[in-house]
Amino acid sequence: MANQGYSRRVVLQAALGGAAGLALGGPRRLLAAAGQGAVAPVTQRLADDLHVVTVPGVGNVLARTGSAGVILVDGASATTSAAVLQAVASLPGGGAVRTLFNTHWHPDQTGSNETLGKAGAQIIAQENTRLWLTTDVKWPWNGQTFMRLPKVAQPNKTFYTAGTLEPGVKYGYLPDCAHTDGDLYVHFEPQNVMAVGDVVSLQGWPTVDYITGGWIGGMVGATQRILAIANEQTRFVASRGPVLSYADVKTQASMYATIYERLSTMLNRGRGPSEAVAAKPTKEFDAQMGNPDEFVRRAFESLWAYLSPDA
Ligand SMILES: [Zn+2]
Repeated sequence: MANQGYSRRVVLQAALGGAAGLALGGPRRLLAAAGQGAVAPVTQRLADDLHVVTVPGVGNVLARTGSAGVILVDGASATTSAAVLQAVASLPGGGAVRTLFNTHWHPDQTGSNETLGKAGAQIIAQENTRLWLTTDVKWPWNGQTFMRLPKVAQPNKTFYTAGTLEPGVKYGYLPDCAHTDGDLYVHFEPQNVMAVGDVVSLQGWPTVDYITGGWIGGMVGATQRILAIANEQTRFVASRGPVLSYADVKTQASMYATIYERLSTMLNRGRGPSEAVAAKPTKEFDAQMGNPDEFVRRAFESLWAYLSPDA
């Protein structure tokens, strides 16, 4: 997601303290990869050929190394792209990136598109994500505007439902419209690791980006869909926060179902976003997820966008 308020310290703690990280030997800081004034990416090994590269305060990148080149899921922000790509090149077996997936269009995920597109990499996205990257997007709730990407940075291979990059690397569309209307997952089957973008995260409330198709009902559907595609041994790499277990995603699915039900009830009673915020519909989750006010407001507005007959 494109967020400004998210604490770098929290993300770093998450990356360093995630249970999966400890179990797998913990992350390694690549101080050499830090540019002038930048925060160094942190890497975490999930398998010999699969690593998470985390840019504190920005997000996670998943890198599958191999003799034919690196497969990258997301590319962090434009300002941290160089440090990320340097960290990826420094991984065991690391090298040039041949394929980049965009889990969705947000700038914290698509910041390496231009560099890698110019280098001739394949950039794969769901077709809706490509379309958002060809147009300027403005968020009405804070006035933030995102400019379209130049042609060379736009996804050059799109799909509608699902695909197989190579045996053991499957990807697919999450059509529920959870975070945006172009969310995809990538499943690395031999390692049983699934990249799921901003559809789930147990560290910080997500932006419900209803301007580009996301909504709270879709977050319920997509988390349930992810569980159905995965199995109980799957590990999940979200755009932010620590590596998640199946149980973590299950918790997330039931949390969003609870919130969706509460907000729908308020909508049906004619309440508005400010009343929804005041009712604290996320109260039992706030200790884990942080201040919910912006999330609740966007989630409520997303119900208007989806459920109002004249929206
Ligand atoms: Zn996002």
